[in-house]
Amino acid sequence: MRAIVRGDVARFFKIYWSKKMRVYCSECRKEAVAVQRDFGIGAYEYWGATGFDSCIMTVSECCDGDLLTQEQLDELNEEEKEDE
Ligand SMILES: [Zn+2]
Repeated sequence: MRAIVRGDVARFFKIYWSKKMRVYCSECRKEAVAVQRDFGIGAYEYWGATGFDSCIMTVSECCDGDLLTQEQLDELNEEEKEDE
C-alpha cells in the first residue's frame, strides 16, 4: 500500500488544511479525516533501563488506516476489479 503521508507531514497538513486535498481511508474507502496517532508503546522499562517509545503516524480517524488520494483510491478499486 502506498500511503500518501510518509515523511513530509508538515507539507501534507498545510495542503490538507487549506482544503485543497481530500483524503480517503484505505480500510473503509470512505472520505477520511486525517489525524496523527502515536503507535509507539509509550513508557517502557527493559532490564532497569527506562525509555519512551514513540511512533507518530498520520492515519485515517475512522479505521487508523492509510490515507489515499482520490487517484490512489481509484487505482486500488481498479486493481481489485482486475483480480476477480
Ligand atoms: Zn475508515
